[in-house]
Amino acid sequence: MITELSLYLHLPFCKHKCYYCDFNSFSGKDELMPDYADALISEMQSFLPQSPLIKSVYFGGGTPSYFSTELLVHLIQFIKEHFFINAFTEVTIEANPGTVHFKDLIRFHEAGFNRLSLGLQATQDQLLQVIGRIHTWQDFLTSYKQARESGYTNIGVDLIFGLPGQTIEAWQDSLERVTALKPEHISAYGLQLEPRTKLAALVEHGSLKLPSEDDVCAMMQRTMDYLRDNGYEHYEISNFAKPGFHSIHNTGYWSGRNYLGFGAGASSTYHQDRWVNITDPGAYIQVQKNRISAVASLEVIDHTIAITEAVMLGLRMRKGIDLAQFQASFQIALADQAADELARLTKQELLRVQDGRLLLTDRGVLLSNYVIASLLAKLEE
Ligand code: SF4
Repeated sequence: MITELSLYLHLPFCKHKCYYCDFNSFSGKDELMPDYADALISEMQSFLPQSPLIKSVYFGGGTPSYFSTELLVHLIQFIKEHFFINAFTEVTIEANPGTVHFKDLIRFHEAGFNRLSLGLQATQDQLLQVIGRIHTWQDFLTSYKQARESGYTNIGVDLIFGLPGQTIEAWQDSLERVTALKPEHISAYGLQLEPRTKLAALVEHGSLKLPSEDDVCAMMQRTMDYLRDNGYEHYEISNFAKPGFHSIHNTGYWSGRNYLGFGAGASSTYHQDRWVNITDPGAYIQVQKNRISAVASLEVIDHTIAITEAVMLGLRMRKGIDLAQFQASFQIALADQAADELARLTKQELLRVQDGRLLLTDRGVLLSNYVIASLLAKLEE
């Protein structure tokens, strides 16, 4: 029986497409917003009879703060009225500087959003321009200050390292400027150069140059050292938080909590099923109007998939995998099944076992893809 659940609402509208972005997000489709909100309500209504406690609600995108404020308030009111949420439910909205105003922040807070995730990415205007962000550092500072004045006591800031032309010193400067503001949560992602993005084309044609792999590793190492020295717990490969402020929503994804995703391209995991909705917002609206399923693909999470995900996601968490619990869940003694590989990776100081948990070392974090892939390959033999 499912006793806890998370909800995700996807708002795929942006003012402008960032050059590195391959998310399911669109600019120039603003006229769809009212119908899209109706479609979200219609999709949520189909799940209403089965609402366990909702641990977290997350409005992501796209740029939710670019969506109509009135419609966002309407959506959160619907959730509060129809799902089982309580005072401890984490309710997050993503916002980007340049698309959010003081009165909107106040409105969101009054409506029930108790966590704000602000997309900054870098503190240097020149770098922001290179990746196609629409805001400046000053815009971010204004939004951040207004968010505090609106009453948010849980603010996350997103940063990206490994940007074209970014130096280790520039990254250090971003870390210092952001931590000086004391946000409760910082996400620091390494840039993924996604094919078919404008940024990938610019790098391919030689117009922009990415930092070397060594520099990117140094930036990650610097992130871990600096944020830990400044009171942030490194609780997932890319996520850092002040004590008590780990993201409840994202921790749910990493620890296998069931979640329902609503909206174009949203995915859900419920019992043994995982499904993904059609990605086009117009088509999504249409199927909801016609009361047809929005599901584009469905997979059953079998034993093999569940093991793979438990290893991948468990190792991403800095507390690692509880080996006894893993064995109880999957009838596999990880330490025996992959003994040679574990010994090899441990000898290379990439993994270690501590208090019955298997976890990545700091060095292992820098090479996490390699470590996780090596371990999974061994398990698949
Ligand atoms: S704001 Fe976010 S979702 Fe929108 S284009 Fe930029 S990175 Fe993508």
